[in-house]
Amino acid sequence: METRPGSERILVAPDTDPLDGDVRWAPGKSLWLAGMTASALLLGSLCFSWSALALFLATSAVTLCAGHSVGMHRKLIHASFDCPLWLEHLLVYLGTLVGMAGPFGMIRLHDFRDWAQRQPACHDYSRHHAGFWRDAWWQLHCRLVLRRPPDFRLEPRLAGDRFYAVVERTWMLQQLPWAALFFALGGLGWVVWGICVRVSVCVTGHWLVGHFSHTRGDQVWIIDGVAAQGYNVRLAALISMGENWHNNHHAYPGSAKLGLLPGQVDPGWWLIRSLEAVGLVWNVRTPHNMPERPGLRRLTEAELRDGVADAA
Ligand SMILES: [Zn+2]
Ligand SMILES: [Zn+2]
Repeated sequence: METRPGSERILVAPDTDPLDGDVRWAPGKSLWLAGMTASALLLGSLCFSWSALALFLATSAVTLCAGHSVGMHRKLIHASFDCPLWLEHLLVYLGTLVGMAGPFGMIRLHDFRDWAQRQPACHDYSRHHAGFWRDAWWQLHCRLVLRRPPDFRLEPRLAGDRFYAVVERTWMLQQLPWAALFFALGGLGWVVWGICVRVSVCVTGHWLVGHFSHTRGDQVWIIDGVAAQGYNVRLAALISMGENWHNNHHAYPGSAKLGLLPGQVDPGWWLIRSLEAVGLVWNVRTPHNMPERPGLRRLTEAELRDGVADAA
């Protein structure tokens, strides 16, 4: 077993193979999302109120920005800044409330995909290349089972964290206290919009951003010799909290800042800067203080003009 740079939690053997495998229905995540989506579709319009819509928007913004983007992705997965442990726990807990997986499940999903995309070739599942509708079915309702998968090992700091272990075991149940609170404050409408509509929209939206950010959009950087490139999906900046700048993320995975070029709106970065300003975040990593990724190449003006990147 050896580790590869940038995939420290993924351990490969000589016969590990990112290509050879089957996509299988994943009952747990499929029924979870189908249940949330069916409830949202059936009850959403019946239970509509402006306050329920406001609750949906506010809870989506907090869980996606502070939770998913800053807590889960930029901090827990990429360690792109330092902060007190209580704040890390709070941010990651908010990320769990998005309703996709627990903290360890999210790390595993992310790092496995990241490892596969860095190989010279990988399964279409891992690079979102199955076409729109099939990719939707695969990513939202199935999982990839490789015949010879890599091993996954959490670093001791996370593996021994009891708070994360509890949240990991109970990530679906974590919606319940919030559902009870919303019911007490605003009745069934608040539960439907604050839980069911939010989870189905955010989980489906996360897939949409993931799909487009691996299939089409703008490119500034190319990584030579890897199975998948990332794309910047301009329209999704605000709703994805900056996660849409995925070409930048492939170029600088450890950067806390995702919107790297002028005009690239990045709400997650604004939150990190605000927390840094009040002393709750430090050692923030950006391309200015990071080593460059091997194989990284910035496209020339001529290549950008000719759209060479589109063919990649
Ligand atoms: Zn990617
Ligand atoms: Zn990442």
